[in-house]
Amino acid sequence: MKILKKYDLLIIGCGASGFAAAIKASELTEGKIKIGMVCKGLLGGTCVNVGCVPSKYLIEITNKYYLSRKKFIGLELSAKINFTDIMGGLKKVVKELREEKYEKVLNYYSNVDLIKGDVTFIEPNKIRVNTEKGEQELSGSKIIIGVGSTCFASNMARRWLEEPKELLDWGQLEGLHHLLPYT
Ligand SMILES: Cc1cc2nc3c(=O)[nH]c(=O)nc-3n(C[C@H](O)[C@H](O)[C@H](O)COP(=O)(O)OP(=O)(O)OC[C@H]3O[C@@H](n4cnc5c(N)ncnc54)[C@H](O)[C@@H]3O)c2cc1C
Repeated sequence: MKILKKYDLLIIGCGASGFAAAIKASELTEGKIKIGMVCKGLLGGTCVNVGCVPSKYLIEITNKYYLSRKKFIGLELSAKINFTDIMGGLKKVVKELREEKYEKVLNYYSNVDLIKGDVTFIEPNKIRVNTEKGEQELSGSKIIIGVGSTCFASNMARRWLEEPKELLDWGQLEGLHHLLPYT
C-alpha cells in the first residue's frame, strides 16, 4: 500500500511561478506551513533553462556581432564567431543562474520539500508522482498549478498550413502575402 504524504500546500511546477508561489506562501505564513513543490525536469523551468535567459544571451551576442560588421568611417571593429564556445558560455551562464536563483534558494526554506517526478491528479486534492524511485501519492489542503504552457496547433491551423490555397482567398488578403507561408 502506498503511503500518502500530506502537505498544507502542494505546488506543481518548479519554474518561476512555482518558486514565486513557494516563497510568497512561506513568507505569508512565516514558514509555518508544509509545502511540497513537485515537478519534472530541471529546476527553474522555462525561463532560466530554455527561455528568457538563453534567448537574451544569444540576442546580445548577435547584436555585438552585427555592430562589429557595421561600417563607420574611421572605426574598425572585428569579431569572430566560435559557435561551440558561444554555446559552452551559454550553458555555463544558465547553470550558474539555475544554481544561484533556484537550487540554492531552496536552502532558505526548510518548510519546502522538493519532489521530482511527473504529476497526475487522482482526486481534486490528491496527486500521483512518478518519481525515479517509483510512485508516490501526495495530498494538499491547497494546490497551486504552475506548469507553464506548451504549443498547440489546432486542426484548423494544421489544415491551413497543409492546404493554404483551399482556405484562403488570396484576393481578400492582397498585401498580406508576404506574411503567409508557401506564397
Ligand atoms: C524563448 C523564450 C523567451 C522568453 N523570454 C522572456 C522574457 O524575456 N521575459 C519574460 O518575462 N518572459 C519570457 N519568456 C516567458 C517565460 O519563460 C515564461 O513566462 C515563464 O518561464 C513561465 O514560468 P512558469 O513557472 O509559469 O512555467 P515554466 O517555467 O514552464 O515551468 C513549468 C514547470 O511545470 C513543470 N511541469 C509541467 N507539467 C508537469 C507535470 N505533469 N508534472 C510535473 N511537473 C510538470 C515543468 O517541469 C516546470 O518545472 C520567454 C519564453 C520563451 C520560450
